[in-house]
Amino acid sequence: MPINLCQRRTTSCGACCGLYNREDLSRTAIRAELSRRTRALAGVPRTPEAFGAAARALAASGPAPLFPSVRICPLLGFLDAAETRIGCLAHPKATGGPDLRDCGVYDVLTCDAFLCPSHAWLTEEEAEIASAATGDFHLYGLVVTDVPFLRAALEGVAARTGATVLLRHLDHAPFKAALRRLLALKEELAPGSDGLFGAFRPGTDGGEVPRRIDYEALGRASSPYDTILTCVGADPRSGNDLDALEDEVRARLDACARAFPAAGTHGS
Ligand code: SF4
Ligand code: SF4
Repeated sequence: MPINLCQRRTTSCGACCGLYNREDLSRTAIRAELSRRTRALAGVPRTPEAFGAAARALAASGPAPLFPSVRICPLLGFLDAAETRIGCLAHPKATGGPDLRDCGVYDVLTCDAFLCPSHAWLTEEEAEIASAATGDFHLYGLVVTDVPFLRAALEGVAARTGATVLLRHLDHAPFKAALRRLLALKEELAPGSDGLFGAFRPGTDGGEVPRRIDYEALGRASSPYDTILTCVGADPRSGNDLDALEDEVRARLDACARAFPAAGTHGS
């Protein structure tokens, strides 16, 4: 069965619907926008005309995009009353019948067919580790769309403990909390930072710019945590503080290693 990264048992993602394409990426601001859309669409008749008009009004009053060339769909919202799960409010499973995804920024065929590259890379075990460790849509979406970051974080822990991080290790609450704190580097970056958008970083000509920290230009040696630092956009030119982030990565990896369940517990 193909892996499903969009809707997991305890988390969900909406990155490709434009969730993070905005200046204010805080959990509070993103939740408020998703809530606003969900409330606005709740009473709208399930017809293309009514849904389309509501979508246009929501888009016009929503936050400005950080990357104008990347679309923000106003039909992404909360699927549950407790506002923990995000997803497409125009999908037949959400509308109770009609497929209204043509009212969004793409069309039904595009929405149906698209799977982000993480689907081709992540194993089910890695996906469930990302889901269990992050615990909510906000951090999950930032992590699951950046495979090199997730892998480098897990490998960084493994390099300290001598053991591959497995899903069962997250049954140990102190380790799960420490791993979450390591992954949460993703949501603590400077606004507009390269590290917030996975591998996507448009250059001035619209083409993709590979992520790389220019240590030579900075006059310092490469960091042993280069992969993680590169993934979180730690190059000072992105607005982040490389040295401070390097210290944070080291401290959070150390904390993971300290909290890692001892051999013989939790199946390790
Ligand atoms: S970015 Fe990937 S995991 Fe997230 S909703 Fe889109 S296809 Fe699913
Ligand atoms: S209509 Fe498409 S782009 Fe919009 S929220 Fe639904 S799946 Fe995402």
